Amino acid sequence: MVQIFEMGETESKEAAGNTKVDKREEEDPTKVLHVRAVTWDGETVKLTVEPMNYLGKGAFGTVKKILLVDESSGTEGVAALKNPLGPERLNSMEKAILLEIRHKNVCNLLYFFVDKLNRSHLILEYVEGGDLFQFMRTHFVHNVGLGEYLELFAYQLWRAIAYCHANAIIHRDLKPENLLVNPELGTLKLTDFGCSVLLRDEDAGKEMMFYVGTLVFRAPELILGSTRYSAKCDIWSAAIVMSEMVLGKPIFYDATAPKAHMKKIADHIGFPTELDFGDMGVEPIKRPSHLKTHSIQKRLAHVHLPPPSDKPMLEKLLEETIIYSPAKRPTAWEVLVHPFFRWLREPGLVLPNGKPYPDLFDFSEFEMASMPDAVRANFNIAF
Ligand code: ATP
Ligand code: MG
Repeated sequence: MVQIFEMGETESKEAAGNTKVDKREEEDPTKVLHVRAVTWDGETVKLTVEPMNYLGKGAFGTVKKILLVDESSGTEGVAALKNPLGPERLNSMEKAILLEIRHKNVCNLLYFFVDKLNRSHLILEYVEGGDLFQFMRTHFVHNVGLGEYLELFAYQLWRAIAYCHANAIIHRDLKPENLLVNPELGTLKLTDFGCSVLLRDEDAGKEMMFYVGTLVFRAPELILGSTRYSAKCDIWSAAIVMSEMVLGKPIFYDATAPKAHMKKIADHIGFPTELDFGDMGVEPIKRPSHLKTHSIQKRLAHVHLPPPSDKPMLEKLLEETIIYSPAKRPTAWEVLVHPFFRWLREPGLVLPNGKPYPDLFDFSEFEMASMPDAVRANFNIAF
């Protein structure tokens, strides 16, 4: 196990597993660190870490922009440092998952180092541009939609999910704040695997926590307390993210309690049938007395989506993904070949700044092998 050379002192009660965060840990967030770290592929290197500014501050950790010097190779660059503030067990899964994956639509792990309390500090790729929440806020505040960034970013989100699911990873916290975007390059990267699970075949049927992720984006099977759900919960969440990319706010929002949120969902897509409850693996709940008759289509009625966006196809996509039965929701691969994303295949597309679109179809051998045949055929990939 590698040791960090310098870190602030922390109370021993934390080492003993107390979940309270010691404020003194954050006393000097500007301190330059010299650490021995491990690269994604297991090499040990010496790094100088110079904190720049905060990118995010949560209950269990902070994320800072850093200047990084790899003393072993002399290379210098900007990166993001995710420091845990709680005990070790809270972030060990995030590191374990990041060590499994590497993809252009994931915010990849560059290095990690371990402190005296055995907690892992993660050094990630830095994404210039901020997160999708911030990006959407600037657009919707001026009453304009996302334009071509709707398809461009949504497609890359689904590609990241397809890749994670092919690696048996369920993200469980898909939301705009966890999607990092660079509008200048037109790229999106999925981040924050702090709530994720790795679900190998041998874990099938394993009980999982249902109280996870933000309520607005949480799939109904989790809201209703299922403990044996599948990766399809991410499909629901990603569809809700897409609804926010279109409407400027998620399609179901503003309910703070699970029961009220379920009612909002039922107002739009109807109350679950007995079959739906069975598919979600939960006991039926009492039907609320007054359900509204909204629909996804009605909610999108006022939205103007100029070409090349295909509004009827968007409605269809959302209606196919925002459904109770997890098994009947499409897979991320199936969403990627949905006609809504068809125009992204046009050759020679350019971003508003004149730069070419990022390559959206440069599938790795791993991705190609994990695509169902019909998806591969749709992409015209000979295999
Ligand atoms: P957790 O949910 O595990 O407690 P968190 O939500 O505090 O973590 P992240 O979601 O990883 O942590 O990061 C918080 C915020 O920091 C993001 O919403 C984003 O705005 C910013 N951020 C995180 N990583 C990066 C990065 N690599 N590049 C740029 N900005 C980042
Ligand atoms: Mg987050």
